Amino acid sequence: MANPKRRHSKSRRDKRRANWKLDAPGLSICPQCKEPKLPHRVCLKCGYYNGKQIIKTKEKKEKKAK
Ligand SMILES: [Zn+2]
Repeated sequence: MANPKRRHSKSRRDKRRANWKLDAPGLSICPQCKEPKLPHRVCLKCGYYNGKQIIKTKEKKEKKAK
């Protein structure tokens, strides 16, 4: 089995662990209402995804034929 030959120093270990940080979530623009939204998610503002209304929202109360 492969084994590390030498133990890494504390500083080397800590440098590795210091390398991750929080990232801001990605943002994309909804083509329907131009609001920022999460990519690959239904827009929370207008409820549209892929050009169709998926979820009902309070803002728009239009009757859509199914
Ligand atoms: Zn939208």
